[in-house]
Amino acid sequence: MRVYDAHDFDNHEQVAFFYDQETGLQAIIAIHNLYLGPALGGCRMYPYATEDDALRDVLRLSRGMTYKAASMKVALGGGKSVIIGDAHTEKTPELLRAMGRCIEKMGGRYITGEDIGTSPDDMAQIKTTTQYVSCLHEEDGGYGDPAPMTALGVIQAMRAGCEKALGTDELKGVRVAVQGAGNVSTNLFRLLTEAGAEVTCSDTHRPALDRAVELFGVATVEPEMIYDVDAEIFSPCAIGATINDDTLPRLKAKVVAGAANNQLDRAEHGQMLADRGIVYLPDYVANGGGLICVAAEWYRHDQIQVEANVRGIYQTCKEVLVRAEADGVPTSVAADRIAEGRYKRI
Ligand code: NAD
Repeated sequence: MRVYDAHDFDNHEQVAFFYDQETGLQAIIAIHNLYLGPALGGCRMYPYATEDDALRDVLRLSRGMTYKAASMKVALGGGKSVIIGDAHTEKTPELLRAMGRCIEKMGGRYITGEDIGTSPDDMAQIKTTTQYVSCLHEEDGGYGDPAPMTALGVIQAMRAGCEKALGTDELKGVRVAVQGAGNVSTNLFRLLTEAGAEVTCSDTHRPALDRAVELFGVATVEPEMIYDVDAEIFSPCAIGATINDDTLPRLKAKVVAGAANNQLDRAEHGQMLADRGIVYLPDYVANGGGLICVAAEWYRHDQIQVEANVRGIYQTCKEVLVRAEADGVPTSVAADRIAEGRYKRI
């Protein structure tokens, strides 16, 4: 495995590999950039097929956190951690405590949180061995699940996208195809239904889909069909890289705005979306509401201000759209330029 010349290395400040003999923990902590503050990013637990897959994921995710923090104007750098293993069968309190000890050794450069395969309950476990942990339940001193704020931010991105593509930021009557019916999507369905939008969704996990139908009366399609749904908005809220060579030509939507991280399979897909006249609200801008919530928790900022700041994502998206037009670049590049203007040392 090579690190410095890995495709996604992109000037990371530090990549630390950990092993704990007692529990068998194998983990990587990546710190992309610390210019704006300590690196905060979730801890993902996933049964990666190879170490290279784990490295690639942690590097891409930690870089994304730098851009997200800069974009959301929070005093945090970018970092992320991964535990190599199956969260359903290999996650134990001892393993999580071992992970906490690894995080503690970073001396405050990295602050962890929940991600795929970890939960606020796990964060409470990790907190027994490190102080550098966020995304805690309210009863454990945290600000609770960030997913409702992530969903609220995605709605702001959808509104800004609709204003640009359809001439109105009203979501009433707008058809939205949502990929994934998990935690963020459940909050999104509620907000979209309240706004009078028409939702179609997909999920590979049948019970999640059934719950969405029962709670919100949404329409459903098979996972592979979500790209073909006739809708004004496509909202990727499941996994990364779902905008790719195969799916992009199939999209009928005029706007793409969702919660998933790293939605574009390759950077060129930003240009390809623009070429097709699709307004893309970059992932780390659209899904930054959760980070605003977690940053407030870490710095003990007033919780009252969180919702107003998340609603500010509407304005942030509009700034990205204006910059894209002014520079003649896709929105993905415009968002990167705005973030880089904030976090890069001159
Ligand atoms: P989740 O695990 O609760 O939900 C994800 C859902 O996607 C699951 O129900 C899963 O079955 C489904 N899924 C997986 N592969 C799929 C596929 N190919 N097609 C359709 N459905 C599929 O996760 P979440 O908290 O709702 O987060 C959704 C996405 O948003 C994730 O990529 C996450 O990293 C990102 N995100 C979440 C937050 C947050 O606050 N939770 C913040 C920022 C970004």
